[in-house]
Order: sequence, then C-alpha cells, then structure tokens
Amino acid sequence: MDAPMAQVSAAVNGKQKIKMYEVILYYKFTDVEDAEAFCKQHKQYLKDLGVKGRVYIGREGINGTLAGTPDQMDRYKKYLRSLDGFEDTEFKEDRADEIPFAKLICKVRDEIVAMHVDGLDPAEGGRYLEPSEWRQMIESGEDYVMIDVRNHYESEIGHFDGAVRPEVETFYEFPQWLDRAGIPKEKKVLMYCTGGIRCEKFSVLMKKKGWEDVNQLHGGILRYAKEEDGKHYKGKCFVFDDRLVVPVNKENLEPIARCEITGQPADSYINCSNMACNKLFVCSEEGAEQMEGCCSEECRKSEYKRPFVPDNAFKPFRKWYNYFGEDFKQREDSR
Ligand SMILES: [Zn+2]
Repeated sequence: MDAPMAQVSAAVNGKQKIKMYEVILYYKFTDVEDAEAFCKQHKQYLKDLGVKGRVYIGREGINGTLAGTPDQMDRYKKYLRSLDGFEDTEFKEDRADEIPFAKLICKVRDEIVAMHVDGLDPAEGGRYLEPSEWRQMIESGEDYVMIDVRNHYESEIGHFDGAVRPEVETFYEFPQWLDRAGIPKEKKVLMYCTGGIRCEKFSVLMKKKGWEDVNQLHGGILRYAKEEDGKHYKGKCFVFDDRLVVPVNKENLEPIARCEITGQPADSYINCSNMACNKLFVCSEEGAEQMEGCCSEECRKSEYKRPFVPDNAFKPFRKWYNYFGEDFKQREDSR
C-alpha cells in the first residue's frame, strides 16, 4: 500500500525531499495481565530498535504511534504481532520526510484512550463500517447522524461533509456532550475519529445509553484516506505528531479553516509563541509573521515569548515536549 509513496517527493523550501520514513498508528484492545512488566519489556525493545514515538500500555491493551525506517517498522509490527493477544493488530501507515517525534515515550496508563468512564468493553462497540461501506453509506442518501469523535480544534481544519462537530476540547467531555446533544435514540449513528480508537469507546457508551444502530468507521480517517481517497471529506486531518496535519481528500486540497490572525483560508496550526499561553490555533504564514507567532497583541508583549523563527514556526510539537507540562498531557490523553 505504501510502496508507491516511497517514491513521492515533496518540494519543501525549493528542495526535493524523499519521504523515507514510515509513521505508524495502531491500537489493540486485549487483556494485559501485568501492564508494568509488559511496558518495561516493550520499552526496551523499542529502545534497542531505535525508533521514536509514543506508546501507551494498560490492562486493556496498547495504543501507539511510532516512526522509523520502513525496515524498523516492519520489525516492530512482526514483534508486536508475535505477542499473545496482539496477533491481529492493525496498523495505519504513512510516509514522512522526517521523523515527526522528538523522542520515545512508552508508559503505563490506566486507560489507553481516556474517556474516564469505567466498564466500557470495546467488544460491545458499534458495528465496523469498512472505508468502502462508509463511502457507500454517505452516497446512499439514507438518514443518519454522523458524529466527529474528535476535539473541536481537530475537526476545525477537516471533517466529513455534514458531520456533527462537538464543541469539546478533550475526549473526557464527550459523555457530557452526548447527554445534551439530543440525538434521537432511533437514529442511525455513524461515527469516526483519526484512527478509530476513540470510536471503540464512544460507540460502547452510546449503545449502553440506548442507541441501537451505532456504526464506526473502521481504521478511522487515516485508513479511509488511503482506501477511498478521502471522498466526502473536506480539509485535512490533524495528527498528534510533529506533522500536525496530513492530507485526506486527494482531489480537494482547499483549506476549510481560516487563519485566526488574517481571516484568510489556512490549514496549518501554530502554538502561540507566548509560552504562558501556548494556545494551538489555525494560522497562516502571513499571520504568523505579522504577530511573531502569537495569538494576540497581549501575548506578543509577554515576557515569556519564544523568539520567532519563521522556518520553525509550524513545528510546534518538538517545542511542546520541551516546554509543556499538564496542558499538553491533557491533549495527548484525549487521543
Ligand atoms: Zn497567546
């Protein structure tokens, strides 16, 4: 699936770059008896392999995103699938011209994707719709409600046509959002997220609360982008690594969001250069230069302002790891 992509080169700053690295995203819900021991062993394997990224391990399974050479990724996939309970782990794969992580994080979490609702068993989740079935459903004209199970700042730069986009900033807020959303119980529900893991939990919650016809996009937006060329998806997809956004719809690349500074169409994010603010907002190159990477005049005057380096302005995640504490963790938790 990715072989042709290896040859794709992108013009960046006038230079041709070859996308020689592979980025994988994956999760698997399966009982892990001793998460601490499993994590320790896993971390050692990843260190020895020399890859970077972020892996969460818990009693309920594993949730990770990693990057390295295609050979390193192949070895890791084989390794994970050789472990009891992980034999059929699915991987979403993409290519990148740089490793989009500053380091390796591998740690134990109570929940591998945290919604803070106890007793949700993904085995009782919604019906999987494969990417082709999802597209057919959209084109069928059938009556349904489609829910974007991501944070609002993610859906802002891209989402499926007609999707409901909850005004939430973290995944924890979804249960409360559902209670006030007023979705009729008899309605057919379609839901999607980046790679599928958030739907694995949210679909269980919806079924428990009485919705019967609950369906989730298997493999999320990232798999849909590969298999169905992102049809009916507008804009791009936010990802939790240094790339920040990746293309989805191959035909329509028009930005759907607007630069918060200039008001012009934009689909890149920047972290406010005021480290005490660090707000993640949609910003164009012009907007970034105009405000020196800040979200407001007030932030521009802050004593905590990072020096503005135009070439690095849109690579905020490396900076987040260095500067960020709890705020960043909260964002990560909501993946
Ligand atoms: Zn700010």
